[in-house]
Amino acid sequence: MQYDHIIIRYGEIALKGKNRKEFTNKLHENVARKLKPFSQIKIKKTRDRMYVHLNGEDPSIIMEQCTDIFGIQSMSAAIKVPNEEDIIKEAALYALNKTENAQTFKVTVKRVNKEFPIGSQQFNQVLGGHLLANTDGYTVDVHQPDIEIHVEIRQDATFITSKKVMGAGGLPVGTAGKTLLLLSGGIDSPVAGYLTMKRGVQVEAIHFHSPPYTSERAKQKVIDLAQQLTAFGNKVKIHVVPFTKLQQTIHREIPNGYSMTVMRRMMMRISERVAEKENILSLTTGENLGQVASQTMESMNAINQVTNYPILRPLLTMDKDEIIDISKKINTYDISIRPFEDCCTVFVPTAPKTKPKRDKVAYYESLVDFSAELEETIEGIETIEVTQKSSNDELDDLL
Ligand code: ATP
Ligand code: MG
Repeated sequence: MQYDHIIIRYGEIALKGKNRKEFTNKLHENVARKLKPFSQIKIKKTRDRMYVHLNGEDPSIIMEQCTDIFGIQSMSAAIKVPNEEDIIKEAALYALNKTENAQTFKVTVKRVNKEFPIGSQQFNQVLGGHLLANTDGYTVDVHQPDIEIHVEIRQDATFITSKKVMGAGGLPVGTAGKTLLLLSGGIDSPVAGYLTMKRGVQVEAIHFHSPPYTSERAKQKVIDLAQQLTAFGNKVKIHVVPFTKLQQTIHREIPNGYSMTVMRRMMMRISERVAEKENILSLTTGENLGQVASQTMESMNAINQVTNYPILRPLLTMDKDEIIDISKKINTYDISIRPFEDCCTVFVPTAPKTKPKRDKVAYYESLVDFSAELEETIEGIETIEVTQKSSNDELDDLL
């Protein structure tokens, strides 16, 4: 006897009416990709859950692999047995004996298959009695048990589960279109990417860098951040924009107080162009209301003027410590705090306007012809793709 299956429960996607099939297919695809290195396992999806047949793989390792997959509400290791009373008893006993630190238990039988000859209530008692008679030191507590043994008698087989592990929640990545994430090397934008992915959105990234003012290592940092984000999705394409010339022109031609606003507007213009080319319908930033000069209401108003693409700002109303907590949880924090310069900090004006006006920015911009440099910059974009590391790669890294 052993745990030979994982039951994956869908949660929110179960509510999605006619889109349900698309959601479950995508989740199935995401789970299958993540578990590809474990060649023994077989995955079967049904309307309301997925069954992973372990074929000898360790259930806790497989569940650990699935904890980053959005769209999973919860998971349990399960024992699959035929619909026979004695075997079910044996499996329930195995499940109870496998638990640690429990003194009280409760058995919950759910009889989906009405052909099974014993009713749920009665079988609850039969199993409870069997467990009490064959173990030492346990008592039954039907209100607040330390452990609940679930016995689900379905059409073709019975599944016995005990512990429920929470999944990542959210929606399967790839079910809600794509966004272009403005990914700096900072703490915020990777968290913004993670949160959009949580709602089922696939992320492509755009990064503005300004060599030689920003180094290769600063670029590498962004690649590493994107690599980390692939843990929650499949792959992340990064569009690296050579921003030096435009930044120098802005620095030279635009009055100091407005150069940052113009620089941000250029970022938006270029991002929109890339999004259009890649068939992406929105932009995402790590902006957070009031954090710095470029993130005041006035600034956002002036920056936003140049695009009518929706800009998703998942961090807008969060406190910095909430953002940092998430970045630690998703393992981007240590990468983000590596001390490399960002293109924005290199050219940061001494006194940026915290309340820039749309008409003034537009006026200053109208005095300079940026068009050739803008096109040249877009021409020079380099695209890199990072894909999810399989657990084999992770093992290789450790060795
Ligand atoms: P972050 O921690 O994400 O860098 P921040 O608090 O430092 O954010 P800003 O530097 O003002 O804030 O940047 C605001 C947002 O603009 C970032 O979250 C990011 O989405 C985008 N951004 C800033 N710099 C770059 C860059 N070099 N490349 C791409 N996007 C950028
Ligand atoms: Mg930053």
